Amino acid sequence: MNTYQKKSKDIYDVIVIGGGPAGVSCAVECKRRGLSVLLIEKKKLGGVCTNVGCIPTKTLKASCEVLQIAREGKYHGIDLDIKNIDTNRFIERAKEVAAEASKQLEDYCNQYNVEIIYGSAKIISKESVEVDQKIFRCRNLVIATGTRPRKLRNISKPDIENMIIYPDEFWSLKEFPKSVVILGGGVIGSEFASLCTTLGITTYVIDTHERILSALDPLASDFLTNSLTTRGCTILTSVKESAITPEGVVVNGTLYRAEKVIVAIGREFVFPEGIENLGLEKNPNGAIKTNEYLETNIPGVYAIGDIANGMYAHVATAHGKHVARLIAGHRDKFKIVTPFVIYTYPEIAATGIKKIEPTDKILFAEFKENSRAMVEARTNGVVEVILDKHGHVKSAIIIGHYAGELISYLCLAILNKLSFRDLCKHQFPHPTYSEIFNSLEKYIKD
Ligand SMILES: Cc1cc2nc3c(=O)[nH]c(=O)nc-3n(C[C@H](O)[C@H](O)[C@H](O)COP(=O)(O)OP(=O)(O)OC[C@H]3O[C@@H](n4cnc5c(N)ncnc54)[C@H](O)[C@@H]3O)c2cc1C
Repeated sequence: MNTYQKKSKDIYDVIVIGGGPAGVSCAVECKRRGLSVLLIEKKKLGGVCTNVGCIPTKTLKASCEVLQIAREGKYHGIDLDIKNIDTNRFIERAKEVAAEASKQLEDYCNQYNVEIIYGSAKIISKESVEVDQKIFRCRNLVIATGTRPRKLRNISKPDIENMIIYPDEFWSLKEFPKSVVILGGGVIGSEFASLCTTLGITTYVIDTHERILSALDPLASDFLTNSLTTRGCTILTSVKESAITPEGVVVNGTLYRAEKVIVAIGREFVFPEGIENLGLEKNPNGAIKTNEYLETNIPGVYAIGDIANGMYAHVATAHGKHVARLIAGHRDKFKIVTPFVIYTYPEIAATGIKKIEPTDKILFAEFKENSRAMVEARTNGVVEVILDKHGHVKSAIIIGHYAGELISYLCLAILNKLSFRDLCKHQFPHPTYSEIFNSLEKYIKD
């Protein structure tokens, strides 16, 4: 029997605050390991990811893809006369899918008998949490409260306030605007730029950096810039000052007219009330500091997901499971190879840190060499894989159709220390996009 099994029925082994991907995965994994657990969520299960982030944005992207395919029909000999695009249905469907995904999470928690209470948790001490004036006690406390959009400060005029929306609020729009300025060309800003451009919305992106997706490989930035601008999006970079007016945004004396301004300038951490009672150390960016085991400086207190710099839903899920294992007595270091995907058009996916040594080898191929890409007329893409001197995969970037699916092969190679040759011992089916790995093999000398 697990030593952590509920010793007193009044004290939970674990209380998890926040029911996003991090909190849900932690709570379920705790139950699977025989721990008693209470999950506290103040809004809806699934957090940002399910309700306002990953799921609705990718549902909208899927609708945009149908539109894109319809537009490309003529090339295949199908001349569709698109008479009506009911964008209200796009939003409606995004909401429906998000609601269904949240419901599925609830069913998943029920399947494991996870006790859930809805309300805002206030931390009294590391052993006690208050919700709606009731005190709940625990041996381990897990904080999984995530992030919210960073807001623009000092907006006091109502006509300007009405123009501004944040990515999380996009779903509450009654209808899509005809023109938008997107402040911030990071991952979320770029995804919205891609969506809005495909929808035929006049789109301007404004970024303070020299290029959009500035934290990524310039290859990604160049590809996306090219794709967006050829489809009519205007990108303004190195913008040091901009002013929002009721008509749009002014940059260097020019007014970029827009009905709405989507502010995508980053996220800020959401800390539960009373967190200061714990004396937790923070990282320079304000996230809760954790060590390589995912422990905080306070024994028995854990932080997972975005609040601990997770920044992706799948990392949040991995954090949650790992901490449950830790609490159940398996003290391993947290180790994953993180893939990340940007759901733009074309899709961008990467893994590993690109740092090239003189002995490294760079493998590069274009999608136009790939049979399936040719068959499907989706040849706008590239793959670049960096190998170390032993032929092991160090990092990779894929830009193009299904990039997000393809990247996992390379993550598995990194995780299992496979050489690229090992990976290509597998003959990928023909014709598939994955065959691009077999075609890269030709660049390696025996
Ligand atoms: C527009 C957008 C698109 C995104 N797309 C992707 C994507 O495609 N892929 C990807 O991997 N990531 C994506 N992300 C990021 C992803 O959503 C986050 O990394 C993920 O949601 C983090 O999970 P979490 O559990 O740490 O936090 P969250 O999802 O933020 O969940 C935290 C939960 O805690 C609850 N909470 C907060 N305070 C309290 C309290 N005091 N008491 C009780 N409950 C509380 C909140 O209500 C919330 O439900 C996207 C984000 C955005 C904004």
